[in-house]
Amino acid sequence: MDKPAVCGGNPVRDTKIYYGHQYIDEADIQAVTEVLRSDYLTCGPKIAELEEKLCRITGAKYAVVCSNGTAALHMACQAAGVGEGDEVITTPVTFAASANCALYCGATPVFADINEETFNIDPEQVAAVTSAKTKAVVAVDYTGQSVELSELLAHCRSRKLVLIEDGAHVIGTRYKGRYNGSIADMTTLSFHPVKTVTCGEGGAVLTNNEEYYKKLLLYRTHGITKDPALMEHDPDGPWYYEQIALGMNYRMTDMQAALLISQLDKLPAFSKRRKEIVKTYNEAFGKLPQIILQKEIPESDTTRHLYILRLNLKRLTVNRKQFFEALEAENICCNVHYIPTYYFPYYEKLGYRRGLCPKAEKLYEEIISLPLYYAMTDRDVQDVIRAVTKIAEYFKRDLSE
Ligand SMILES: *Cc1c(COP(=O)(O)O)cnc(C)c1O
Repeated sequence: MDKPAVCGGNPVRDTKIYYGHQYIDEADIQAVTEVLRSDYLTCGPKIAELEEKLCRITGAKYAVVCSNGTAALHMACQAAGVGEGDEVITTPVTFAASANCALYCGATPVFADINEETFNIDPEQVAAVTSAKTKAVVAVDYTGQSVELSELLAHCRSRKLVLIEDGAHVIGTRYKGRYNGSIADMTTLSFHPVKTVTCGEGGAVLTNNEEYYKKLLLYRTHGITKDPALMEHDPDGPWYYEQIALGMNYRMTDMQAALLISQLDKLPAFSKRRKEIVKTYNEAFGKLPQIILQKEIPESDTTRHLYILRLNLKRLTVNRKQFFEALEAENICCNVHYIPTYYFPYYEKLGYRRGLCPKAEKLYEEIISLPLYYAMTDRDVQDVIRAVTKIAEYFKRDLSE
């Protein structure tokens, strides 16, 4: 059964195409070099400029940029007051950081299953696993489609939980007309090169809550303050500062901030192109009974970070691994997002067992992330469609047999 599955004939293309790639133009390069010639490489004016820009784009009141999306999640959990003995609910269909951030704070991640059609965390499942120990929910906008914020917020309000939105995929998306980032208690972003906009490594926490904002500023820089109003002792002199909490160094550099400011100018174009590609894929794959499309909820006007090809295995004679290898043989190099977090040995050793979230586990067996990025040409998109169609037809299972 597990032999490599390669279709007959020549590959649909001669050169490899990958599932994601950043887009850097001359304006980006110039923005970075200008900082290199300036007085500040870090803690300079580009940080505030970027934070203002993120607020303007998303409608959030406050933004705190930081070194990466994982740091953003850690700081958000800290600001939410997550600590020893608490539970934090998240989805297993995500990058490990969405659960690791609870562990960083000494809390216990609790996994809630997904909605099998949207692939996002199911608010009913969140309610089902909420306990007296639950402190926060980390809800991931998987692929860039918004989680059901109204339902999640209603639950979090009624049980006095903090809603942290892991928006690593979500920049550019709107939920019920408002940009994600201005709705949950805190929303975290990531600017890794595979994400929609990048600065190499980078992250941010967005919030409308001033208390969280002040805490995030402290945690970003060691828990140190220069604000006399926050100090316990009288200042010794103009150099004086105090450490009043245990924070980290999670700062972003000004080179990164300048790059991201320049990237954000292109967000409308990035968003438009991603939507076009998703539409073209959906139209093509919607005709194939071997493929199941991800359900799009009307509340989310989605800028997609990932395109998930879900295989209808009943209609195929091959499994996901073989389909994946067949795509590689066509020079379409894909990925899989994600291995359920609690499958990892680290989580197994903490006592998590397979079977916790059956819908997430089933999804994992059936998915492949196809190439999706701004610089893809129409030809690239057609090559992906031709390759998927070729393989789906070649390994079609006739149900009447
Ligand atoms: C990328 C990603 C992160 C982590 O972001 P980094 O910037 O790589 O630390 C967290 N959650 C999700 C869902 C991600 O995709």
